[in-house]
Amino acid sequence: MSVVNTVRGPVDVAELGQTLMHEHIFVTSTEHLDNYGKGGWWDEEVRVADAIEKLNALVAKGVRTLADPTVWGLGRYIPRIQRVAEGVPGLNIIVATGIYSFEELPHQYEHRGPGLLLDMPDPMIDDFVRDLTVGIADTGVKASFLKCVVDAKGLTPGVERICRAVAQAHVRTGAPITVHTNSATQSGITALDLFAEEGVDLTKVVVGHAGDSNDLDYLRRLADTGATLGMDRFGLDLYNPTAQRVATVAALCERGYADRMVLSHDASCFMDYFPNEWDMVAEVVPNWRYDHIHDDVLPALREAGVTDNQIDQMLLFNPRRYFS
Ligand SMILES: [Zn+2]
Repeated sequence: MSVVNTVRGPVDVAELGQTLMHEHIFVTSTEHLDNYGKGGWWDEEVRVADAIEKLNALVAKGVRTLADPTVWGLGRYIPRIQRVAEGVPGLNIIVATGIYSFEELPHQYEHRGPGLLLDMPDPMIDDFVRDLTVGIADTGVKASFLKCVVDAKGLTPGVERICRAVAQAHVRTGAPITVHTNSATQSGITALDLFAEEGVDLTKVVVGHAGDSNDLDYLRRLADTGATLGMDRFGLDLYNPTAQRVATVAALCERGYADRMVLSHDASCFMDYFPNEWDMVAEVVPNWRYDHIHDDVLPALREAGVTDNQIDQMLLFNPRRYFS
């Protein structure tokens, strides 16, 4: 039996069920929230209750597991996620470790590491490994995957050090990786090249946001390494409209790549990028919600010739393999 650690504890991977592989619950900046949100746009009780309601609605659609890649840089705060998990008993929530930065290294790691002012093994790796093997802070909750970014700026010195630390934490623990990529610059290739150099098992990598691209050559090049494509921004029509995303997934299924794709929305219950305007976001981006895949995308995929077996592969079996 292979088990995966969730917010409520270990779960047999065979029990994961339908899994959305890239959804946030809350995206905040801790400093923004502490200094401007409290007493203003942030109400902890309202937000927790709202998340519980939205996630229970998702369970009613058949989803059993959600992988939340909210790490440092996106406001990871596990005690709040534990409260949400308590209110959604039908959902496994899997959390991550890593750093979300498009360019710079957090100053907290700048002077500590090999060859730096304090010459020592990279403490970032130990921090990630601790989250995966001991638990996050004093919560007892273990992270089950690693997250980093290679966006349009490519491998800046900061991004490179974070990605190598993530790769080395994977090599030490076997934990899978999700890397945020930029499809316009095809940075998925850069990320996979770096991981391969570090000895990462590429079958344990999700190339996040690959689904922003409709370039089948690029997508097949990624998938042919053994990596899984994150078709994970359904509803973010500004990056790629749903009809295009569906056509691309269907085309890849037809070419035999159903075992190399996972589906998700990259949605959130609340993001402080829009602190006072969160309700307006739902009007401007109406499909960017947790149930868009079940309500709209799956019927459209079936219409485009994708079989129920292929849908099960993307929603059930590929996530199970990733966390096994
Ligand atoms: Zn995301």
